[in-house]
Amino acid sequence: MKALQYRTIGSRPELVEIEKPTPKASEILLRVTAAGACHSDEFIMGASAEDYYFKPLPLTLGHEVAGVVEAIGDGVTDVEIGESVIVYGPWGCGRCYHCAKGDEMNCEKGMRAPGIFSDGGMAEYMIVDDARHLVPLGDLDPVDNVSLTDAGLTPYRAVKSALPKLTPGTTAVVIGAGGLGHVAIQLLKALTQSTVIVLDLGPEQLEFATKVGADHTFASNPDAVEPIRELTGGLGADVVFDFVGIQPTADLSAALVARAGSVVIVGVASGAVPIGQTTVPLDVTGRAINWGSRAELMEVVELAKRGAIRIHTERFSLDEATTAYEKLHNREIRGRAVIVPGR
Ligand code: NAD
Ligand code: ZN
Repeated sequence: MKALQYRTIGSRPELVEIEKPTPKASEILLRVTAAGACHSDEFIMGASAEDYYFKPLPLTLGHEVAGVVEAIGDGVTDVEIGESVIVYGPWGCGRCYHCAKGDEMNCEKGMRAPGIFSDGGMAEYMIVDDARHLVPLGDLDPVDNVSLTDAGLTPYRAVKSALPKLTPGTTAVVIGAGGLGHVAIQLLKALTQSTVIVLDLGPEQLEFATKVGADHTFASNPDAVEPIRELTGGLGADVVFDFVGIQPTADLSAALVARAGSVVIVGVASGAVPIGQTTVPLDVTGRAINWGSRAELMEVVELAKRGAIRIHTERFSLDEATTAYEKLHNREIRGRAVIVPGR
């Protein structure tokens, strides 16, 4: 079968021919219907040999996966051949305290996420380790909804956990209106009565942010701080969500957050907000979000079924997958690039 693999440190992903896998006991074989390209894949492929701590290469990419159940291993019950599913990505052991709560991304034994720590779904077929990692899609279109598994789930956890501070009349700032950020904007509009202010780099990104619901947009640089403070009556934003995570955006987050507000860092990079009595406004809390729980993925699917959120997708075949990553790398994707193997 065809698979998109990251094969050597520092290289770009390659389309290769590998053996179609067979499900062992308790495993499920999916025929992949869609797989999303996430900026985290760029982070994985950007790591130096020293810093690379993911699955030993080669790694089949793809941690946002939808598929149809093609075959099941011994002992798998309650899964129908032909069922349309999406895959909960942050696979844990299933037995530790965090996994028992459904927070498998915080598994005490570490995550075994496909496309990151094991082979993923940017291929014609993929093995899922356990039936609990499948969420039924029902009538939802797999291509439009595959990215609920990360571009939906991760901002959902970020926004949901900040809801106590996002009471009516408050202000939320979203930095980075890409795959995750454009869903965060929609989630904020669906779940709160807060004003949503978005920062991104260029006019195309800001236009896109407005299209998906932003109330105000600004070019992402320190000049945005003054006008945003004015918009909030001098107080600052109640919650700042940073979907970039580099030091310049962390600095913006610290400059924009209001007293007793929150900074929620989602972007994976080395930016940091120094929480302390004299470094940020008083009573500010900070949080670094890691993906989401199984139950939260089910909640996100329900939001999609009710039309409260819609992921904007650009579709590519497996043969075009390398182009999708080039475009993601060059910031040319609006919303999410989705690979459709059968295309
Ligand atoms: P993306 O490439 O689709 O979107 C990134 C957006 O940020 C783009 O619109 C880009 O123009 C914008 N941007 C870049 N630099 C900026 C800056 N200095 N100021 C403002 N905007 C800027 O990426 P994505 O797939 O949405 O991922 C976003 C981040 O979230 C990545 O760092 C990714 O690794 C991370 N991520 C984290 C988790 C988690 O669990 N914490 C899960 C998935 C992705
Ligand atoms: Zn991701």
